[in-house]
Amino acid sequence: MNKQNLMQFICDNAYIRTGGSPEERACADAIIAQCAAIGLTAHREPFTVDMATIRTARLEADGRTVPCLGYLCAGSHTVDAPLYYLRSSDPASLAACRGKIVLLDGALNHATYQNLLRHGALGFISCNGDVHRPDEAIDQRELRRIVVGDGEKLPGVNIHAKSALALVSGGAKTAKIILEQEEYTGESQNVLLELPGESPETILFTAHYDSTALSQGAYDNLSGCAVMLHLIDRFRTHPHRRTLRFLFCGSEERFLLGSQAHVQMHADTLAQIVLDINLDMLGCIMGAFGARCCAEPSVVSYIEFFAAELGVSIPSRQGVHSSDSAPFADRGIPTVSFACGAPANFATIHTIHDTPAVLSGDQLLADAEVVFAFADRMANAVNFPIPRTVPDNMRRELDKYFCRTN
Ligand SMILES: [Zn+2]
Repeated sequence: MNKQNLMQFICDNAYIRTGGSPEERACADAIIAQCAAIGLTAHREPFTVDMATIRTARLEADGRTVPCLGYLCAGSHTVDAPLYYLRSSDPASLAACRGKIVLLDGALNHATYQNLLRHGALGFISCNGDVHRPDEAIDQRELRRIVVGDGEKLPGVNIHAKSALALVSGGAKTAKIILEQEEYTGESQNVLLELPGESPETILFTAHYDSTALSQGAYDNLSGCAVMLHLIDRFRTHPHRRTLRFLFCGSEERFLLGSQAHVQMHADTLAQIVLDINLDMLGCIMGAFGARCCAEPSVVSYIEFFAAELGVSIPSRQGVHSSDSAPFADRGIPTVSFACGAPANFATIHTIHDTPAVLSGDQLLADAEVVFAFADRMANAVNFPIPRTVPDNMRRELDKYFCRTN
């Protein structure tokens, strides 16, 4: 694929496509069509996801309505209680949550939610945006299963940061949340394409194609999908000893639901995978290309030596990337996740600003060719150079990432 083809794929699919939506399905079909156009058959692999349609979401503070969006999959409730702003997670602040609707000055995460449950909160209010950008939209959030764990569902709403500031500065005393929604089981999907090699030993490539609720998800992550299509096109006519599996993941933004589904559905073939190469956010006009390796430290050195040999810059470090590589690393498969980290003042993800305008065809092609050079080494190495292990320090990070420890 040339740089025009890569940008065309991105522009054609730059629309909101949240996990489980008809738009996400349309993008999966577009990927399958793109593979067909280069002469290959890709398959759609559906999996179930929690879905919800909100009927009513209302927040009142001291009787006045505050603009909000209700948390999806958080049940239906009406709760009326004193409002409490949780400034910090020290024991004294947490103890004051009991019987209150708790205002958070940011997003909700697993640790905070579990603290709210433990300390008897009745509901929560999170926020997004920036008080200096008052016109930005309120984000649609969901109460994820991983956040709830075995606990009960608390009613929650999300508001703009400017509203949170107004509640605290105005000394709001009480809050009422009315949340009514219909919850059901829906369907998302991965798109899978395999190029068999001489050996069943497999290199897996992952890139997610869904977006968040506010974002066209051009940079995050049609860019990674475009690079993956380029790799498919390159390897179609390029020899590869190992089998290559290309997985376009759905519902990544809903906490890696597609890659987690693949790990479950293909448990019998995981033993053949020797490496996952994950692609998430590439081709940005600004920012530096780099690698995060959930693997032995020697892999970080290997990539740096490889970059020197190629004459390119690939700063690398060990770590768990919050992306589709994580479920594979969690099953003991070493992963290398390539990303171009753009400074947030040039390209922000998960907002209305993530559009094709932050990307360049030249940069996409340059990033794709570096990934291809690395993948070619991995696909054709006589003896596979990367140990198939995930070291203890990474396993501890994975435990934390998957909320098994704090
Ligand atoms: Zn992403």
